Amino acid sequence: MSTRTIKERIKYIARNTFLIAFLSYIGFFGVSSCVSEYKYPVLEDESKIEKIIKREVKKLNLENKKIVFDIVDYRVFLVPAETKIFADGSYLVELRKGLISEGNIKHELYHIYKGDKGGLLSLKFWLIEEPRAILYEAYDIKLSSF
Ligand SMILES: [Zn+2]
Repeated sequence: MSTRTIKERIKYIARNTFLIAFLSYIGFFGVSSCVSEYKYPVLEDESKIEKIIKREVKKLNLENKKIVFDIVDYRVFLVPAETKIFADGSYLVELRKGLISEGNIKHELYHIYKGDKGGLLSLKFWLIEEPRAILYEAYDIKLSSF
């Protein structure tokens, strides 16, 4: 029989629940990025990249949005692509040379599709926007009510 008090038990359960949730979250990111890298190899051919962009824009019904794609030669640690939103409602999607894949293109376009605002300091970005874009990137899952 344990000598723990109820308060200690609750603390123990809360701490472990948090730990399991945190590890699951990290695991989800890790596994999904492996799945995406396996499914979608790095693309070098710009005409192929353009073809995939056109197909994905159509698939997500984004033809009416003003989206400019740019292939850039600089790297940001762990970030293969990035979308910038401008005040006039247009978007600039930067694809980093040597890291471009169909998965990255799908990921960025899904952020636009969902109207995500981004922001690395935003809890909404890490808990909703980023996992949702990863689900689409790696598994083609579109969450209609989330
Ligand atoms: Zn993202």
